[in-house]
Parts: sequence; structure tokens; C-alpha cells
Amino acid sequence: MTQVDLHLHTTFSDGRLTPLQLVELVGQRGLRVVAITDHDSTEGLPQALEAARRFPHLTVIPGVELSTDIPGNEIHVLGYFLRYSDPGFQRTLQEFRNGRVERAREMVSKLAELGVPVEWERVLELADGGSVGRPHIAQAMVERGYIRLPQEAFVKYIGRNGLAYAERPKLTPADAVRMIRGVDGLPVLAHPREVENLESILPELEAAGLVGMEVHYGNYTPSQVEALAAIAARDGLIPCGGSDYHALGTPGEVEPGHVGPPLETVERLNALARQRANISA
Ligand code: AMP
Ligand code: ZN
Ligand code: FE
Ligand code: FE
Repeated sequence: MTQVDLHLHTTFSDGRLTPLQLVELVGQRGLRVVAITDHDSTEGLPQALEAARRFPHLTVIPGVELSTDIPGNEIHVLGYFLRYSDPGFQRTLQEFRNGRVERAREMVSKLAELGVPVEWERVLELADGGSVGRPHIAQAMVERGYIRLPQEAFVKYIGRNGLAYAERPKLTPADAVRMIRGVDGLPVLAHPREVENLESILPELEAAGLVGMEVHYGNYTPSQVEALAAIAARDGLIPCGGSDYHALGTPGEVEPGHVGPPLETVERLNALARQRANISA
């Protein structure tokens, strides 16, 4: 059982639990510190922070997860302790979410051409007003009976090399880091094993202001964690991580409390966040 989980999704993006349900789950499990990190949205944070008041031992860190656009590479940047109410920041997130709608439409029409149609209305219903993502399309495909598990949709259709994949305008990874710094947040590289050419990409992100990297993530093995921890230590990056829980209920899904960084990580993040807040105040 771990006490910290800094990577969680809710219904405000592609997670299946509302912020309230998620906070109840982690609160009841006895976690001490969690971060809510929806894709391109901070709209679940007020609900999550409110719910956390019922669990005095629990702290909820405000967060976000931004996708970036290096072709053929899935680089995501997490941001913690950001001044998320900033109007310019919110406008940019709204633009990203609009881009997600356009891109999901494109994938849905490609699926129709490929003979595996799903209803656009159903995809929107599954997204329920939050950031539309590929998992919503995958779920619609499961419901239509084309596949049994959402991940099968990624292999053949909506993964980066899938037949129905579509891109959307996104930031470069360094811009994502700067965007989070722009609202006094702490940028952290997500799931680095999914990043191709990690070592050649890190210097630029560090120069842009990256402060941490996920190390204790999902189902990474102990030796993988060790290798990432060594890179983080070498570069002075705070070793972060979490379950990346979406509550999909799929076999082998990693749950909150199963993986995460030590409390010391939170202390280091807290110290940096306080420094940032003082500087910009
Ligand atoms: P999107 O934000 O629309 O680009 O979708 C990315 C999300 O899809 C990730 O955050 C995961 O939740 C999910 N995802 C990505 N790759 C896979 C995969 N191979 N199998 C299942 N889910 C995936
Ligand atoms: Zn997701
Ligand atoms: Fe991610
Ligand atoms: Fe995630």
C-alpha cells in the first residue's frame, strides 16, 4: 500500500469516477496525498478539493496533464500546484478541449469508412462534457461489440499507428513545460518509458523548467523504476509517479494505493511550490 498517488483521472477527462467518487475512494483507502491530473482540464478540481475536506488525513494537490505533439511520440507533461484559475491558462485549456472534439470527430468518421461505425452522439455522451479522449471512442467500440477491451481499439484503430488515428494541434513538450511554469506550476514528465529517445529529449525539457519525472508509475517493474530513479537523481529531477487510474475496470488496471512515490517526494514538491508562490507574490 502506498500513501501517495500523483496521477489520477476523473470524469472531467477520460476517467470513469467523478472527482467526488475518486476522492472518496482514495480517502477510504487511507491515502495521504493525491493529485487530480485530468487531460487538458482543471474543471474537476473544485469538486475534488471540496470532497477532500471530509478526509482530514488527505491532501489533494491540484494538477493537470497536457499532451504534446512530437510526431510518433506520446509525451505528456503533468503540472502540479498551478494557479489554474488564471484566465489565459483556462482559455488555452478550452482551446485544447475544442481541438479534442474536432479530432475525435475525424476518428469517428474514419472508423465509419473502415466499416466499424460508432455513433458520434454516444462518444459525446461518454465524454459527458469533459475532455473528449480516445478512451471514449474505444468504449463506444466495445459497446458496439467490435472489440472486448478498450486497449484493442488502440492496437488496430486509434493508437498512433492505427488506421483511424487523427492528430490535433498541440504544444511542443517544452512549450507544455513553459505553459505550466507560466502559472507557477511544477512541470513533471509523465510515463517516461512511453517516451521515445527520452535521453535526447530531457535536456530541452530541463532547460524549459522541468522539475520532476514519473518514476513510480503504473505497472513499471522494480528494475524499470530503478533505472528511471537513476536518471532522475542524475538530473536533479524529483522522482514522482502514481497509478494513472481511470477506473476503467479492465483486467490488470493499476489502482490508487498500488503504486506511487514516497512522502519525501511530496515534501520536495511542496518546498518548490512554496518558493514559487513567494517569488511571484
Ligand atoms: P487522448 O487523450 O485522446 O490522446 O487519449 C490518451 C489516453 O488514452 C491515455 O491517457 C490513456 O488513458 C489512453 N490510452 C492510450 N494508449 C492506450 C492503450 N494502448 N490502451 C488503452 N488505453 C490507452
Ligand atoms: Zn487518460
Ligand atoms: Fe498520459
Ligand atoms: Fe494520465
